[in-house]
Amino acid sequence: MKKRLITGDRPTGRLHIGHYFGSLKKRVEMQNSGEYDPYILIADVQALTDNFNNPEKVHKNVREVAMDYLSVGIDPQKSTIYIQSMIPEVAELTVFYSNLVTIARLQRNPTVKTEIAQKKDLFGESVTYGFLGYPVSQAADITAFEGEVVPVGEDQLPLIEQCHEIVRKFNSIYGDTLVEPKAVLSEAKRIKGLDGNEKMGKSLGNAIYLSDTPEEITKKVMSAVTDPNRIRKDDLGNPDICMVAYYHKLFTPKEEVDTVCAECRAGKRGCVACKKQLAHNIIETLRPIREKRAYYEARPEEVDRILIEGTTKAQKVAKETMKKVKKAMKLDYFE
Ligand code: SF4
Repeated sequence: MKKRLITGDRPTGRLHIGHYFGSLKKRVEMQNSGEYDPYILIADVQALTDNFNNPEKVHKNVREVAMDYLSVGIDPQKSTIYIQSMIPEVAELTVFYSNLVTIARLQRNPTVKTEIAQKKDLFGESVTYGFLGYPVSQAADITAFEGEVVPVGEDQLPLIEQCHEIVRKFNSIYGDTLVEPKAVLSEAKRIKGLDGNEKMGKSLGNAIYLSDTPEEITKKVMSAVTDPNRIRKDDLGNPDICMVAYYHKLFTPKEEVDTVCAECRAGKRGCVACKKQLAHNIIETLRPIREKRAYYEARPEEVDRILIEGTTKAQKVAKETMKKVKKAMKLDYFE
């Protein structure tokens, strides 16, 4: 019996290579292992928690994210891709679960605390009820589909812990109904931005997108931060503080990387040539993804059909869970 796996992304922009190395690659591997039944949600409602004033952005990016999924190898025959807002049971469960979580507990959640601090520009001193409560809706996302496995990064473990607490409390009050998910720590690494920033993102302008053209990739790589002490080609360099060397390690074969680093240290390598070589390798690595994405870009009706089919399948599963939940909560009138 395949384990139900729940994962997803907020549609706030196209996906970049940070997402690819951070989660997408692993998801495709898990999908293809045959051990899992993946449900991949495009979390538009969650995206609205900090983009409530920009619904166009969220709307537009639902299809962008779907195309990114398909282009990296998420296979709609093996994975169910669905749109969160089209599953009303998730919103309903969020309301029921809200009675089982205190405000103080949400405020203590380390992940929420960090994210609120990062969004000071949006919220000022007073965070919205929706944003503070997003771990509750995330618990609904997981339990609506009886999720058994949730791949997460270490920084997201407190969200799964919050989900466990909700499930346990629900089951202790209303009887054994909800499935408690297991967090699987992904070993995937977090990829730094081209400017050396720990985070890669659109707002930071330091990301290479899966859909970037070869020209865009080349332009971005040429602007990457290098060893600032190198002025001339024969200056001895330090690849350990150069983002070009960092990206070579992701996109260039090991022997070539060794040569890059050795020549840099010996002052036998020019930064311009080094960047051109990297740009070429990134362009070639992403070529199959870019080509597959172009296929779907030219066929929006096919993307919509995949989303409709995935969402319809997800709706059926969530309805079954809701029947059990309402029965347990004595809300099953007239049945
Ligand atoms: Fe970086 Fe390459 Fe220049 Fe060395 S030669 S500093 S690795 S870009």
